[in-house]
Amino acid sequence: LFVSFEGIDGSGKSTQARLLAEALRADGREVVLTREPGGSPGAEEIRALVLQGDPERWSAETELLLFTAARRDHLERTIQPALACGATVICDRFADSTRMYQGLSRGDLRRAVDTLHDLMIGVEPDLTILIDMDPAAALSRAKARATAEERFEDFGIGLQEKMRAGFLALAEEFATRFAVIDGNRAPEAVAEDVLAALKARA
Ligand code: C5P
Repeated sequence: LFVSFEGIDGSGKSTQARLLAEALRADGREVVLTREPGGSPGAEEIRALVLQGDPERWSAETELLLFTAARRDHLERTIQPALACGATVICDRFADSTRMYQGLSRGDLRRAVDTLHDLMIGVEPDLTILIDMDPAAALSRAKARATAEERFEDFGIGLQEKMRAGFLALAEEFATRFAVIDGNRAPEAVAEDVLAALKARA
């Protein structure tokens, strides 16, 4: 089973991915918890290339190619071997983040994103959990923990709202694999709904 978590920066998706991994492991299941950009040694190197240093270094198009290369490596080296062994793969961000960040926020590259995805990735999660969160609350949370080394995209509230709407539209576009969960609650309450969404699909 391949599960991805998506949401705007500061939505709490990484916490929820970790809590789900812990719950499934406690249940005796083999779980591989991974993330994007990154998730394999080569893809982590690409992550550093893109997210560290000068944010203007790459054009939107080059960045899309780098993220796609990272995803291909992650898929080959981490995700597919784990699925082949029967593990549940939980991925903090996957192709939907590229549809949003490269496809929507930095120029309108959605068609290029989809074409590259079809050619080079061709895999979608069985279940995508969208942690839907108030944009203002998510923004202040993301700002509070932003590090100096890694790029944090301070979109401001306008773009944060646009990204939230974009993720909700994606959830409608891919309705069969998406579950939208209200993230404006205590982590334990959100985690309960995540587990219920998984049980409903599994
Ligand atoms: O999820 P995480 O906090 O690790 O993401 C790190 C940064 O990379 C975020 O600021 C996010 O907006 C950005 N990102 C991106 N394109 C992606 C995935 C993440 O620009 N496809």
